[in-house]
Amino acid sequence: MAKYNPLTPELVKTLQSIVGAKNVMVDPEKMETYSHDEETDPRYQHMPEAVVFPDNVGQIAEIMKLANRELVPVVARGGGTGLAAAAVPLCDGIVISTEHMNQVLEINEEAMYMVVQPGVRTDDVQKAAKDRGLFYAGDPCSGDSCVIGGNVATNAGGNRAIKYGTTRNQVYGFEIVTPQGKIVHLGGRLEKSTTGYSLDHLVMGAEGTLGIITEITLRLKPMPHNVIDLLAIFPTIDQAIAIVTKVIKAGITPTCVEFMDNATIKSVEHFLKAKQPHSDVGNYIIIQVEGQSEEDMEDKSVLLDELCMANGALEVLVADPAKIWHARKSFLEAAREESLIQSKEDMVVPVDQIANLMHEAAKISGKYGLASRIASHAGDGNVHFHVLKGALADDVWDNTLKAFQKEIYTLVYKLGGKLSGEHGIGYKRRHLMEEYTNPDELEMMRAIKKALDPNLILNPGKIFTVE
Ligand SMILES: Cc1cc2nc3c(=O)[nH]c(=O)nc-3n(C[C@H](O)[C@H](O)[C@H](O)COP(=O)(O)OP(=O)(O)OC[C@H]3O[C@@H](n4cnc5c(N)ncnc54)[C@H](O)[C@@H]3O)c2cc1C
Repeated sequence: MAKYNPLTPELVKTLQSIVGAKNVMVDPEKMETYSHDEETDPRYQHMPEAVVFPDNVGQIAEIMKLANRELVPVVARGGGTGLAAAAVPLCDGIVISTEHMNQVLEINEEAMYMVVQPGVRTDDVQKAAKDRGLFYAGDPCSGDSCVIGGNVATNAGGNRAIKYGTTRNQVYGFEIVTPQGKIVHLGGRLEKSTTGYSLDHLVMGAEGTLGIITEITLRLKPMPHNVIDLLAIFPTIDQAIAIVTKVIKAGITPTCVEFMDNATIKSVEHFLKAKQPHSDVGNYIIIQVEGQSEEDMEDKSVLLDELCMANGALEVLVADPAKIWHARKSFLEAAREESLIQSKEDMVVPVDQIANLMHEAAKISGKYGLASRIASHAGDGNVHFHVLKGALADDVWDNTLKAFQKEIYTLVYKLGGKLSGEHGIGYKRRHLMEEYTNPDELEMMRAIKKALDPNLILNPGKIFTVE
């Protein structure tokens, strides 16, 4: 890793002159929050030397010029809800928080776009669109606490990716500050473009390693009016998962197809202290569909009901959206109540392979005696397979997890999958990235990083190592 310089008192003064003294934090107690994201294993935490809260892009450009000149690392931070320790300042240095850059700048109803600062909460983006009769399709389960800049930086997925795609598909273009402090606009308000490299697509999902996103133009859509959420409950995981491809083959394009296994349902029931249907034996598939009209929605519901019942469902219910989505979105907190330390695998496979993955993964975790909780954006092949440490001793946990991951990722790659569907690599999966990625592909990524950030100033130590 590159050699960096410490943040001297003189440099802190310079930061204060850029953003104002009250917008520079150096108190270790206050900075603790910025030493971690939502990954709870203390081994992935690291304190910054300062946290700064800029108001505008000009200030961020000045900070980057200073950091690049003085060789002080910088990490951008949004809501801090990441699950890969990607926003952790591993090499000390400065955290740039986008908390103060939290304004919706423009909504154009006619052309259906919205311009936002990076620190706007995702739920607030959705709400701002809804207030104008429009729809923002991005919907990560962390929407109440993550922010849009973090979503773009991680190319967040979420519940509606099966129909609307990931965050990448919701973005027209954006402004970044480069590691050298230049302000550059990428993408454009275009439906198509073959005009050189797609640098916008490169930066989206790069986890803050190539530039700091300072303003984003988002695509909006007409608000869907006829929406229904069905809850299909199956006695086995295999039956539940088998329904995914059947729904797609039936010609229905669902908005969401989500899965929760029985252990997860029990865990959520306990956490929320709210009885869930068939929680004794059930495995859930939540299917959301939109219709052109009430009649169209009815027809789709009937077809889905028939498909699920023919596939052995115990029951298919019209779900209360607030209750069922609250249950689904409580998955992580519920599992965390059971075990603060857990390995949150985020594997993704081709959709037609998800049944194989789920079947084999249960066998592998069983073989190692590991307790697991599973929730999945099943419609797009993305499985959150959380393995709980529970009462295992540290060394037993480390060794067992290593052996489990070796088997599971060998399987995932054999099925044509990858390490992460949406949470990213960050620091937590860096070693796995280096183990499982084709060396030529990894070399291309390293070359891009070195070309765009030769001093390795921006978010060092993330995704892969680079000298
Ligand atoms: C309960 C829960 C549910 C979740 N559900 C989902 C889900 O359904 N789908 C999903 O994809 N993820 C999910 N996540 C993970 C996480 O919420 C997403 O990855 C989210 O996009 C992170 O946004 P953030 O603002 O919190 O980013 P942070 O955690 O602050 O940062 C994440 C990464 O983005 C970089 N970054 C942040 N802001 C900027 C910026 N302005 N410019 C450049 N880089 C930046 C950081 O450096 C870091 O590398 C969930 C997390 C939790 C805790």
